[in-house]
Amino acid sequence: MPSSEIPYKVTIAVLLILMETGRLIFGGIWWRRETKTQATEKGLPLLEAVLWLAAIATFAYLVTPWLDGFRLPFPPWLRWTGAVISLIGVVLFVWAHRALGRFWSPMLEIQPDHRLVTTGPYRHVRHPMYSTFFVICIGLSITSANWIVAVTWFGGFAVILRHRIPDEERMMIDEFGDEYREYMRHTGRLIPRMRG
Ligand code: SAH
Repeated sequence: MPSSEIPYKVTIAVLLILMETGRLIFGGIWWRRETKTQATEKGLPLLEAVLWLAAIATFAYLVTPWLDGFRLPFPPWLRWTGAVISLIGVVLFVWAHRALGRFWSPMLEIQPDHRLVTTGPYRHVRHPMYSTFFVICIGLSITSANWIVAVTWFGGFAVILRHRIPDEERMMIDEFGDEYREYMRHTGRLIPRMRG
C-alpha cells in the first residue's frame, strides 16, 4: 500500500467506528421491546446483500492492497473535503438515531407502543437516516477515491430508494393512517421541504 494512502484509510476507519458506535448507543438496541407487526419487505435480502458487499469492499480497501487498482484520480484537497462531508453525515446520522431512540430498527417493524416521532430531524424529513446515509456515501466515495467502494455504497442507497422507502411509508400509513399522511404533507422524503 502506498504510504500516502494511510491517512485516508485511518480517517475512514475512524469515521466508520464513530458511525457504528453512535448507532449502538442511540439505536436503542438494548432497550428494544417485542415487535407488534413486522412489515413484509421484499427488498430486504437485496438490501442486506448490497450492504454486506459494501462492508466487505470497504474492509478490503482499508486493510488489503486488492482494490488498489480501482483508484480514482482525486487530488488531496478533494479527498479531505470528502472526509469533512462524511463527518457531517455521521454526526447527522447519529442525531437521527438519537431522535428516533427505541423505535429504531434495522427492519420494518412496529413496536407495541410505537408512536410517530416528529422531533429533531424528523421535523423536516421523513427519512433522515437514509438522507445522511447518502451524504456518507458521497463523503466516503470521495475520500477513499476508490470506485469499488463508491459503487457498493451507492448500490446500498439505490436499494433503499427503490425498495425500503416505499415499503416503509406503506407500513407507516397502515399503522398511523391520517397522522402519517398529515406528517407527509409538511415534510420532505429525504430533503427538507421548502416553506410555502
Ligand atoms: N426511515 C427512517 C427510520 C429508519 S429505521 C429514517 O431514515 O430516519 C426504520 C424503523 O423506523 C422502522 O421500523 C419504523 O418503524 C421506524 N420509523 C420510521 N419513521 C418513523 C417515525 N417518524 N416515527 C417513529 N418510527 C419511525
